[in-house]
Amino acid sequence: MLELLHPHYYVDTLLDIPLDELKAQNIEAFILDLDNTITEWNSNELRGEIEEWFRRIKAEGFKACILSNNAERRIKLVADRLDIPFIHRAAKPRRGAFRRAVEVMGVRSDQTAVVGDQIFTDILGGNRTGLYTILVKPLARREFIGTKINRTLEIFVLRHLLRRVPGPRRDR
Ligand SMILES: [Mg+2]
Repeated sequence: MLELLHPHYYVDTLLDIPLDELKAQNIEAFILDLDNTITEWNSNELRGEIEEWFRRIKAEGFKACILSNNAERRIKLVADRLDIPFIHRAAKPRRGAFRRAVEVMGVRSDQTAVVGDQIFTDILGGNRTGLYTILVKPLARREFIGTKINRTLEIFVLRHLLRRVPGPRRDR
């Protein structure tokens, strides 16, 4: 069970994801969480460097899809601006929407990496679906109360498990 909470890789932000390393592992597509991964929680604002990152991964041939447990409106705004598909009300960590995202991008699961800031939704769901998982540090501290409770659990999980996970970050 605990193995399912382990990300395969751990970085500060999207910008630190090692694209060349992933290409070498035949990863061609990203399933990305929205809140605190692409934007700050409950915000539509996209930082310039994040938009630039999306231009870069597309130019390098990667596909991308936003997967969020939230309602459609905000996710659509961001996805349209980035010109990528999205799935809302994804019910992460359930597997269905992860599988749909892989289908939408027209790739195989072994070519897909999940990127998100939460162990109990993004990482657990990605691992349950058999995908490569990348944990990012949350962009902002302001967040939904349910998320805060999960975070308290995450601190324990992270302290005990992340020592073995590759990536430049060890603290959180
Ligand atoms: Mg998130």
